[in-house]
Amino acid sequence: MSKTILECTDLCKSYDEGARKLDILKNIDFSVEQGKRIAIIGASGSGKSTLLNVLGGLDVPDSGEVRINGEAFSTLSNNQRGRIRNRSLGFVYQFHHLLPEFTAAENVAMPMRIGGAKKQDISDRVDMLLSRVGLKDRAKHRPAALSGGERQRVAIARALATEPECVLLDEPTGNLDKTNAQNVHALLTELSDTVSTSFVIVTHDEQLASTLDEVYTLEDGVLLK
Ligand code: ADP
Ligand code: MG
Repeated sequence: MSKTILECTDLCKSYDEGARKLDILKNIDFSVEQGKRIAIIGASGSGKSTLLNVLGGLDVPDSGEVRINGEAFSTLSNNQRGRIRNRSLGFVYQFHHLLPEFTAAENVAMPMRIGGAKKQDISDRVDMLLSRVGLKDRAKHRPAALSGGERQRVAIARALATEPECVLLDEPTGNLDKTNAQNVHALLTELSDTVSTSFVIVTHDEQLASTLDEVYTLEDGVLLK
């Protein structure tokens, strides 16, 4: 049986909209097995980002639980949660969120530095990851000197820096033109074939979704398979 990396049970989240209560996530049960590539699709405003943020421990649910490697987020201190996030999870967003004053290599190195990795290990892994995403010769470029597609490649390399067990991607190609989006999709598919990392990808791209292992739709607060 394969190992469950990330799991949520009976997850509920709502927002107060004036006098109204908006139920965004309604009793969601979801799990991510090791190495699985999962797509989440759904209309704009259906709660996909909210779900991903709760799964990644960046937002807290109203009720229900998120477990990472069996450990419940709610039982951890902020520091412990931060450490687990750094070690076990990677994040990629629609807008790259790279640090503008750092080079591509430094951005990729950041999660390893924060995690206290050795200098040589960081340097070796950054070289390897930048090569893997096809940006070996862009290592010293700052984000402003990179194209949109290249920035997302750096963001993907950064998300993989600590060899996380799961990477959460929130519309990673939503801000790219079709060609760049296809290139990034090809990269994600290729990477996911060669690493044991799980991927949870929020996307509007049904073609990409159809190439993944599982596809869920978030609709009216419920996750449908
Ligand atoms: P998606 O990523 O699927 O487009 P989101 O998770 O961003 O959807 O948002 C789901 C719904 O929750 C939207 O109606 C949005 O307006 C609302 N929402 C998101 N964040 C907040 C917040 N911090 N306060 C109030 N409402 C929010
Ligand atoms: Mg969103």
